Amino acid sequence: MSLRPTIDFLLHDWLQVESLQSRERFADHSRETFDAVLDTCERIAREKYAPFNRTVDIEEPRFDGEKVILPQATHDAYKAYGESGMLSAAQDYEIGGMQLPYTVEAAANAFFAMASVSIGSGMLTSGNANLLMAHGTELQKQVFALNEFSGRFSGTMCLSEPQAGSSLSDVMTRATPDGEGFESDALGPRYRLRGNKMWISSGEHELSENIIHLVLAKIPDANGQLVPGVKGISLFIVPKKLVDTQGQLTGERNDVALAGLNHKCGWRGTTNTLLNFGEGKYPVRGGAGAVGYLVGRPGEGLKCMFHMMNEARIGVGMAATLLGMAGSYASLDYAKNRPQGRPTGAGGKDASRPQVRIIEHADIKRMLLAQKSYSEGALALALYSARLVDEQHTGQAKAADEARLLLEVLTPIVKSFPSEWCLEANSLAIQIHGGYGYTRDFPVEQYWRDNRLNMIHEGTHGIQAMDLLGRKVLMEGGQGLKLLAARMQATASRVSPEWADEARQLLDALQQVGAATQAAWKDAEPAQALANAVPYLQAFGHTVIAWIWLDVAQSAQGDAPAQVGRRAAARYFFRYELPKISAWLQVVSRRDPTCAEVPEDAF
Ligand SMILES: Cc1cc2nc3c(=O)[nH]c(=O)nc-3n(C[C@H](O)[C@H](O)[C@H](O)COP(=O)(O)OP(=O)(O)OC[C@H]3O[C@@H](n4cnc5c(N)ncnc54)[C@H](O)[C@@H]3O)c2cc1C
Repeated sequence: MSLRPTIDFLLHDWLQVESLQSRERFADHSRETFDAVLDTCERIAREKYAPFNRTVDIEEPRFDGEKVILPQATHDAYKAYGESGMLSAAQDYEIGGMQLPYTVEAAANAFFAMASVSIGSGMLTSGNANLLMAHGTELQKQVFALNEFSGRFSGTMCLSEPQAGSSLSDVMTRATPDGEGFESDALGPRYRLRGNKMWISSGEHELSENIIHLVLAKIPDANGQLVPGVKGISLFIVPKKLVDTQGQLTGERNDVALAGLNHKCGWRGTTNTLLNFGEGKYPVRGGAGAVGYLVGRPGEGLKCMFHMMNEARIGVGMAATLLGMAGSYASLDYAKNRPQGRPTGAGGKDASRPQVRIIEHADIKRMLLAQKSYSEGALALALYSARLVDEQHTGQAKAADEARLLLEVLTPIVKSFPSEWCLEANSLAIQIHGGYGYTRDFPVEQYWRDNRLNMIHEGTHGIQAMDLLGRKVLMEGGQGLKLLAARMQATASRVSPEWADEARQLLDALQQVGAATQAAWKDAEPAQALANAVPYLQAFGHTVIAWIWLDVAQSAQGDAPAQVGRRAAARYFFRYELPKISAWLQVVSRRDPTCAEVPEDAF
């Protein structure tokens, strides 16, 4: 089973990605150049990632007191990915990029996520560099971002602290001006940072020459107090090793120390770290304190960081999706080969007949279709959203603004739908394997463990739900939701006759979501409206994926097995999944207080 035909179908038959050639930025591209990128990534993923997915799970990162040790395979994969040019694929030609549409970049990265999600494909590094391209000074771009795009340096995002996870307004890392003339450092206003950052992915390793940490910290006010709330948060570049204005290492180790590695349930190929900034383990330039350079203006750190977080959220959604696909393929293969049980005929079961393969049982097909509908539906949504990113960057003003608003509303779904439902897909993949699926002799338990992270990081499921119902569907007068509704209506109005029932069902779902949105907020305090935000997120997500499937199904014509399969997955989603939204939305609409009001001591 190969991912490529699905990617090709979605990019070309459904999204018509070649039409982007008409944009000046992509004028040099063609189906051939897109194919060449996909071919390269598919090959590197097959050769350097897939064979080592279990290795990186078993050989967890370890610290020898000086260095973090990773398997050789991770070093080889990191090198091959850097050399492929994918870290800078979307950047301008002048800085060594390919000016590749983000849609194609995202599709190409899918091969790595499927082959070994935790070896990774540099999402943090390119996200970090992209943020600097948007908010950094010319020299910060030159010294830090360009060296990240080349793979020479790698990047992290340091938001979380032990006491500040979902609630970033509570970060306590302090940044104080670094002596006389701190404001006139060529690399940016220079500060000393002190604090602890928890859960930092790729926070320490020997894969690259340097690690560029992007760190959220607070600059104390004149009284030495930290400004409460997110307004007090600023953003700093804190390199592990200090560099000069040419990007060369100065030979000084910055005061950033690994306090410990976290030992995770899954995703073990990536180091995860607790980092101490400025505790004096590596005194630098005469004292303790990690040297950091301000990015953007003081107090605008979270705003800048959101630039990285939105990309990261699409990336997390893709990772969850591809883990769902990986489990789906593994369980399909298993189901085609495992003989077990006999069909029940009119006279019961005939034990003298040979056993059938489990794929012949309707319940196994149900679990295969569920996985297919979740993961391929999520992949289509992610690529649709990536296409919106290209529209936002290269479309005409009106279309670009519409794409921006649609992305605002869709991003929580792109992240959260696959995090929940492709995890469920992985659970179904284990179920199809029976007892074997529960062992480490088959890959599916690892997919589930790897995927379990995705509802937690980059904004937990609950936080995404509150973002959707509390902010995204309301912002700019509800314009994003209206635009999304118009797209759904457009799909419903152009379906072929055999999809008329599904089109009606979609419009009904849309009406239910709209009514629940209003009912949740009617004369309500935010706490009441948001008490059932997760069921809202689930219903919203299912409605979006139903729409995506209905749209995809219109391009899935003919009798080729792959097209029959796509239509079956679409029908499955409408018949088995979409009806669930009524139950989810009921508690939203009546602002059911069951959970909010149960007293703590009643548990
Ligand atoms: C493997 C891994 C990698 C990570 N990588 C990074 C990284 O590279 N950089 C980085 O900065 N961080 C990273 N994180 C941190 C991650 O983003 C946080 O774990 C996440 O934001 C949740 O914070 P927390 O763990 O403190 O949980 P908490 O915020 O304590 O949340 C615990 C539970 O309470 C719920 N909750 C919290 N607040 C509310 C509320 N107001 N209303 C309702 N429910 C609420 C949450 O939804 C969750 O279910 C990583 C985490 C992990 C596990």
